[in-house]
Amino acid sequence: MSKQVSNVFDTILVLDFGSQYSHLITRRLREFNIYAEMLPCTQKISELGWKPAGVILSGGPYSVYAEDAPHVDHDVFKLNVPILGICYGMQELAWINGKQVHRGEKREYGPATLQVEDKDNDLFKGIDHSTVWMSHGDKLNGLPTGFKIIATSENSPYCGIKHETEQIYGIQFHPEVTHSTMGKQLLRNFAIDICQAETNWTMENFIETEVQRIRDLVGPTAEVIGAVSGGVDSTVASKLMTEAIGDRFHAILVDNGVLRQDEAANAKKALVDGLGINLSVIDASDEFLDNLKGVTDPEKKRKIIGHTFIHVFEREAEKIKPKDGSKIEFLLQGTLYPDVIESISFKGPSQTIKTHHNVGGLLDDMKLKLIEPLRELFKDEVRHLGELLGINHDLVWRHPFPGPGIAIRVLGEVTREQVAIARKADFIYIEEIRKAGLYNQIAQAFACLLPVKSVGVMGDQRTYDQVIALRAIETTDFMTADWFPFEHSFLKKVAARIVNEVDGVARVTYDITSKPPATVEWE
Ligand code: GLN
Repeated sequence: MSKQVSNVFDTILVLDFGSQYSHLITRRLREFNIYAEMLPCTQKISELGWKPAGVILSGGPYSVYAEDAPHVDHDVFKLNVPILGICYGMQELAWINGKQVHRGEKREYGPATLQVEDKDNDLFKGIDHSTVWMSHGDKLNGLPTGFKIIATSENSPYCGIKHETEQIYGIQFHPEVTHSTMGKQLLRNFAIDICQAETNWTMENFIETEVQRIRDLVGPTAEVIGAVSGGVDSTVASKLMTEAIGDRFHAILVDNGVLRQDEAANAKKALVDGLGINLSVIDASDEFLDNLKGVTDPEKKRKIIGHTFIHVFEREAEKIKPKDGSKIEFLLQGTLYPDVIESISFKGPSQTIKTHHNVGGLLDDMKLKLIEPLRELFKDEVRHLGELLGINHDLVWRHPFPGPGIAIRVLGEVTREQVAIARKADFIYIEEIRKAGLYNQIAQAFACLLPVKSVGVMGDQRTYDQVIALRAIETTDFMTADWFPFEHSFLKKVAARIVNEVDGVARVTYDITSKPPATVEWE
């Protein structure tokens, strides 16, 4: 699937040696409207199926001289395209060309000052003295055969090297991290000036090629089904399918009884009326809530919801009657590029591959083929695409919502009553956040219902009711997060509204834990 995109757009191939920054290289290049694709360093070049405009060898945790160190397929040099080695990538180039790599006396981690020695070199165009980010323990102990020095730093005499005659470059620092102040410029110089990659990776162009690709893949008669949640990914994926094959795409929204307030109705309105998607909404809330009866363990809740979902979805899919002579052959999945990266990135000799367990069952049981129109895209690209496809702004910029929904925000047993309390509190909280103009500053916000009772007093009456915990976080990548510093007056207002308007709540608290040590969701 991804091969196709790489055939249409000039592509920079990023070979991943396992650095935690590898995906950032891809990310940066795409910001220049250049398509970049990451593959594990073990990729056989002969099996690529497309020719890259240039290749970047990433950093990595290994030492090139170690016995089990990963190495690049030497056919990469036969491609005759520019190559840039970053950190481990440069050490790999040095290893191949004379084995000039050893353990340095000093590890170098953090900022260093780059001194450009070859000012006419294209790689450093517009860059002279600048701060670069180092993260290495090994270093070159000599110039690799056929190379020259183009940059130095105090601790790295081989901070930048280039092959005398070929367009092969190595740098010791990491241009992909923002701490390298001119790093973007360097990657831009490499991709645009040196590789001469065309800067045509735009979402406008993507829509055009993707719609065509979907038509070619599905063919003139086959039909496709997919689950939608009301979130941005599944909505964008469904809209693309609808653009490509119209009503031969069937979207199913399963109301599992733990969606947000008015969610099913709102999604129906947005998808059917707003976007013309062929959608069926299935109310299976009783079935889900019955299955969740008495269950308090979070992992069990997730499993039950997953299994029930597969069951309901299969049953509903059977009811869809495709047009004469046609058959449902594909299942749509809104997989994004970070999931793909997670499953392909190089993890060393014992490489682990994550499967998309949420659809695995459906594919096998229903004998369907997977179709994933977003698998090349990062989240912000999906959002941009959503806006181009005419999906409304609020939906496009919605906070993420977990698959098991409010079931993991009702701590303890999930009952209709408990869900109603959590849902109403959440609704008030989000409404106030929007009113205060804070929604887009917060990455995710929600209310949880805690299964503890607390004493209160309302209208001179003693109350003994439950506790709502509010959570709001700031983060860019959801790997780490901090709690959002609301004004006290805002919290005061929300707490008062929740206690006054939601029966069953006696107290409201605000969660002031970062991630780590806490996670974003409570369960
Ligand atoms: N493991 C190698 C070193 O320590 C490369 C590090 C890197 O690529 N960041 O030098």
